[in-house]
Formats: sequence, structure tokens, C-alpha cells
Amino acid sequence: MPEQIVKQRSRGFICINAHPEGCAAMVERHIQAMSAKRPSGLSGPQNVLVVGASTGYGLATRIAAAWGFGAKTLGVFFERPPEGNKTASAGYYNSAAFHRRARRDGLYAASVNGDAFSDDVKRQTAALIRKDLGKLDLVVYSLAAPRRANPRAGRTYQSVLKPIGQSYTGKTVDLSTRIVADVTVEPASQPEIDETVAVMGGEDWQWWIELLLDENLLAAGARTLAYTYVGPQVTWPIYRDGTIGVAKKHLAATARHLDGVLRSRLGGSAWVSVNKAVVTQASAAIPMIPLYVSLLFRVMRKKGLHEGCMEQMRRLAFEHLAAGRTPTTDNQGMIRLDDLELRDDVQAEVMDLWGRATTENLEEISDLAGFRLDFNNLFGFEVDGVDYQQPTETDLTL
Ligand code: NAD
Repeated sequence: MPEQIVKQRSRGFICINAHPEGCAAMVERHIQAMSAKRPSGLSGPQNVLVVGASTGYGLATRIAAAWGFGAKTLGVFFERPPEGNKTASAGYYNSAAFHRRARRDGLYAASVNGDAFSDDVKRQTAALIRKDLGKLDLVVYSLAAPRRANPRAGRTYQSVLKPIGQSYTGKTVDLSTRIVADVTVEPASQPEIDETVAVMGGEDWQWWIELLLDENLLAAGARTLAYTYVGPQVTWPIYRDGTIGVAKKHLAATARHLDGVLRSRLGGSAWVSVNKAVVTQASAAIPMIPLYVSLLFRVMRKKGLHEGCMEQMRRLAFEHLAAGRTPTTDNQGMIRLDDLELRDDVQAEVMDLWGRATTENLEEISDLAGFRLDFNNLFGFEVDGVDYQQPTETDLTL
């Protein structure tokens, strides 16, 4: 059992290790935030599967279900366990902390750590549902993955974050040097677009739901949900109108298909929720997003509107998913949790700052410091109350 002092190690801006106690403290902070604002007498889904449950929106969803509704949760994720003196990944430690805390509070929690795209992990998950939960009333699909091995096609797809049709030049901040500069991203080829759709589109979500239906593991009225992002126009060349945007359109079309199937078979439904931009491992990798988010955080904090993953998922749970509520949607049928981000006054200020942002004034006009703190917190570093000088047990079990 190696106890060791864990110092943050990075490659470029990406952090390549994680701090177990720091991750646990972040999970605890989210649980407290959820429990503190729980309206009394509200109930909700009781048997919940979250695919992509170890970090970001998926972890926040799992916490919202467990500590918001007292739900039994089953999480699927793909995280690196500890090995010798190498730490586990942050999502592994988050999940270990989630399990410990759930046990303490008498909440059922189990997880499958493996490739959610594989048939094997789908089968293992189905067996666990049958054994421990019976039937699910909510399935949330919150995967963000760079690649997908498709077992039925026998090949692996890579996703790319590129514009379509023409190259795009836009402002970005290099998180390791803090230099603001224009980057040019070349347009995607058709195979790159297709592969991004294969990874981040709705096919695998559909396969999960089909399997759960075939195995009779969905309850009457069961709901399923996946997440997307729209964002302001300045991000559209890379996001909404780029390769990831095509994949997200496929995800939305899949939601409409699944909605029809679930309605006719179980009186259930399928939804896409448009969430706001937050700091996660996935979002930090998208060109322009760290700069945009640093400016957005500054403006939303100033206006008292700031939300992270947990605040967003609390709203989703209590306003849209609680018992007796039907999600409210826009005219495309999507749940909108990005309403505050896209408010005209917020966007006007962000765009003004966007036009003025330079390497020299960035610290002053943006919340880059807040972005970096949130980013380091994702890996359990710089978390208040954690003594990083003390050795800590890194060899944890899930
Ligand atoms: P994240 O990187 O924090 O989480 C990704 C999750 O997917 C992790 O639990 C990881 O273990 C899991 N995962 C990845 N590959 C896997 C695999 N092969 N098998 C099993 N699990 C796997 O990502 P996130 O930012 O929370 O994104 C989740 C969803 O939310 C995505 O659909 C994303 O587009 C959407 N979203 C994100 C933002 C944002 O700003 N971050 C905004 C709106 C919508």
C-alpha cells in the first residue's frame, strides 16, 4: 500500500496524475452543494444508470440523482486504476470517493470501469442491473471520448475538433504559456467528419437503450437523456458548425428516434439537454473554449450568475426530472440549461472582452485564474483544506 506525497505532474496543460484526497474533497464539495439546496418533499428517479459517470457532467448527474433523490446509481466509466506508485486517474478517485460516501449514507452505488462502447461492458452492466436494481427509470449518457472501438464494425474511429468547409482562424489562449494568439484550424475531411459522428454521435447511446429494452431492464415511463452544447456564435465554426456539431446533430436525431421508441413501448421519453460551458477535461481540449470560458466566468461571476457542473445538474434534477415534472424545452424539444450563459447582456459583455483580449490584459479582464483553479481542481490539486505536504494512500479500490 504505497503512501506517497503526490505532486501535480503536467504534460503541456494536461495533468497526468491525480490526488486522491483532493478528488475526494471535490466530490464532497459537490455532495454538500447538492444536499444543502435539496427542496423538501421532492422525489425523483430511483434507479439510475449514468454512462460517463466519473468526471464532469456525468459525475454531477450521478451526485444529483443520489443526493437529490436518494437514487440507487450505477456508473459506467473508463478510468485508469492506480499501479505501483503511479496514481489512478482523477475519475477513478472521484468514483472511489463517491462509493465511500454513498455507503456511508446507505445509498446503493456500483460501477463498471471499462469501455462503454464495447458489448462486454454493456452486458456486464445489464447483468448488474438485473441482479441489483431490477429496472431503470433514468439512463443518462454523458460520454466524452476521443475515440471509439466499434465492436460491430471491427474498427476504431477517432474524433477531431475541426471546422467544416474552410479553415478557421480565431483567438485562443495557450493554457501552459498564457499567450493569447490566433490559431488556424484546417477543415475536416469527410472521413474525419464521419468518424467524429461515429464517436460522439448517438449510435452507441441507441445501442445502450436497445440492449436495455431487449433485456427488459427499463421501467414503465423510463427516461433517457444525453448532453450537448450550443454556445455563442464566436464558437460556432469550431463547435456547432464543426465536426462535433455534426455529431451532436446526430445525437439530437437519435434522441427523437429513441423518444418515439420509448413512448410507444413504455410510455417513456428521450431528451437532449443543452448545458452551459464549464471546465472539464473534455472542454479544455477544444480550441477557443478556454479563452471563451475564462471571459464568460468573469462576466457571470460579476453578475452573480456563475454555475459549474453541479449547479447545472441540480437545476436539471429539480426543475426537469423530479417526479411529476415534464422537462420544459425550446422549440426544438431540447432542455435549455444554457439560458443564463446565452442571455443577451452576458454575451454582449463577453464579446466586448473577447474583442479586446490580449496576452497583456488577459489576467485583468478574464477569470483565467478561476479557469486554471477549476482545471487543477478536476485532478484534485489546489483544493482548499487538503494538505499536499502529507503522504496519502494512492492505492485505493473502487
Ligand atoms: P468529461 O471528460 O468530464 O467526462 C467524460 C466521461 O466519459 C468520463 O466519465 C469518462 O470516464 C467517460 N468515458 C470516456 N470514454 C469512455 C469509454 N470509452 N467508456 C466509458 N466511459 C468513457 O466530459 P464532460 O465535459 O462532462 O462531457 C460530458 C457530456 O457533456 C458530453 O456529451 C459533452 O459534449 C457535454 N457537454 C459538455 C460541456 C462542457 O462545457 N464541458 C457543455 C455542454 C455539454
